[in-house]
Amino acid sequence: MKVTVFGIGYVGLVQAAVLAEVGHDVMCIDVDETKVENLKKGNIPIYEPGLTPLVTKNYEEGRLNFSTDARLGVEHGTMQFIAVGTPPDEDGSADLKYVLAVARTIAQHMTSHKVVLDKSTVPVGTAEKVRAAMDETLKSRGVEIPFDVVSNPEFLKEGAAVADCKRPERIVVGTDNEEVVDLLRELYEPFNRNHDRMILMDIRSAELTKYAANCMLATKISFMNEIANLAEHLGADIEKVRQGIGSDSRIGYHFIYAGCGYGGSCFPKDVQALIRTAQQIGYEPRLLRAVEDINDDQKQKLPQYIARHFGEDLKGKTFALWGLSFKPNTDDMREASSRVLMEELWKRGATVQAYDPEAMDETQRIYGHRDDLRLMGTKEAALHKADALIICTEWQSFRAPDLEFIQQTLNQPVIFDGRNLFDPDRLSRRGFTYYAIGRGASL
Ligand code: NAD
Repeated sequence: MKVTVFGIGYVGLVQAAVLAEVGHDVMCIDVDETKVENLKKGNIPIYEPGLTPLVTKNYEEGRLNFSTDARLGVEHGTMQFIAVGTPPDEDGSADLKYVLAVARTIAQHMTSHKVVLDKSTVPVGTAEKVRAAMDETLKSRGVEIPFDVVSNPEFLKEGAAVADCKRPERIVVGTDNEEVVDLLRELYEPFNRNHDRMILMDIRSAELTKYAANCMLATKISFMNEIANLAEHLGADIEKVRQGIGSDSRIGYHFIYAGCGYGGSCFPKDVQALIRTAQQIGYEPRLLRAVEDINDDQKQKLPQYIARHFGEDLKGKTFALWGLSFKPNTDDMREASSRVLMEELWKRGATVQAYDPEAMDETQRIYGHRDDLRLMGTKEAALHKADALIICTEWQSFRAPDLEFIQQTLNQPVIFDGRNLFDPDRLSRRGFTYYAIGRGASL
């Protein structure tokens, strides 16, 4: 099938590459000329495991193309995906300006029936706004061309995006037109062989499903962080509690790790956007507010431990920081806990020696050159002459470090672990002062 994807970000690029891989003919359109030129040269703008070979192969074989020419994109696909960003507006609601701009562009250039699929995360009622924007543009052109608007939210996880798109757990389709379902079945057939993963519903339910999913996941994290804060004061160990509750099949082990807060481009903004939606209809979203508040506080947890150990004034202190991305296997630093931490440390006069397997360029892009940030080539180099080690992201390569080397290299054997990677008893036996999240039994 001929497919066009507007927006070559984490969602658009991965989805486009995976659709091309199964044989669809995919044209990607972005307003960012540099990004498009780089992609044509084989320079992939983001880090996702398995993405570079997939993009390169499908581009070379001609099934995946990149352009800034929106007219070309509209002509190309019967299926027109919108996968542009929906960043938070000033009041926390999702800013739809990019989504609606694409809708108008499609209507501006279309000459035949198009199916417009909304992959961006958008508030309930957006499909109606997309339809209205397209109707208005078509009217101003003085033409009547039929089109459908479908809600087809994306559930990929950054860090496992390619695998998730190749084997989606579900394909949510919100539509009010039965005839479109056939086209979508054809589009997604290669991903739907083992069993039917397509969940059909009305458009508003599909739009709400995406927010409900992300808010549920954020709630699980904030719930565990609340219990971790209790555990810390009650002399209990959240890691033991986690295993104790995870063994209940109604709860399960997934996504119940306490830590230094969730980040990323989705959870914080989607929780905020659903809060805003609730307020707009006069409903007070008490639980969602608590989820957000707990998370904001949780990002202050490591700075608080550091103040407890070193005092508030950190002038002259240097901290080794392992992990900058908001989670492992990505270079994405949007809303990352590491950013809150570094900014707190800098405010108090400290220097940060940071290492991340993938997010070094992104850190440089965000913070530029500053005297109190040293980007180090290896995790070992980051330890050199530092007063303590801080861990913000649970990359695999941080999980079994050479403790002896850490002890010898740091000025003092102190670790602040925002991801509960180590056994507190073992670290204490080895002479470390170890701060972790909600492990009061060991503090
Ligand atoms: P992103 O910021 O990585 O990419 C968005 C791209 O859209 C950018 O390259 C930008 O230049 C481009 N763009 C903006 N306006 C455009 C226009 N008029 N025409 C063409 N391109 C345009 O965003 P992302 O992380 O891929 O997220 C996209 C959407 O998907 C958001 O709504 C997000 O909430 C949702 N989502 C993201 C994830 C994730 O893990 N990142 C997962 C599921 C859903």
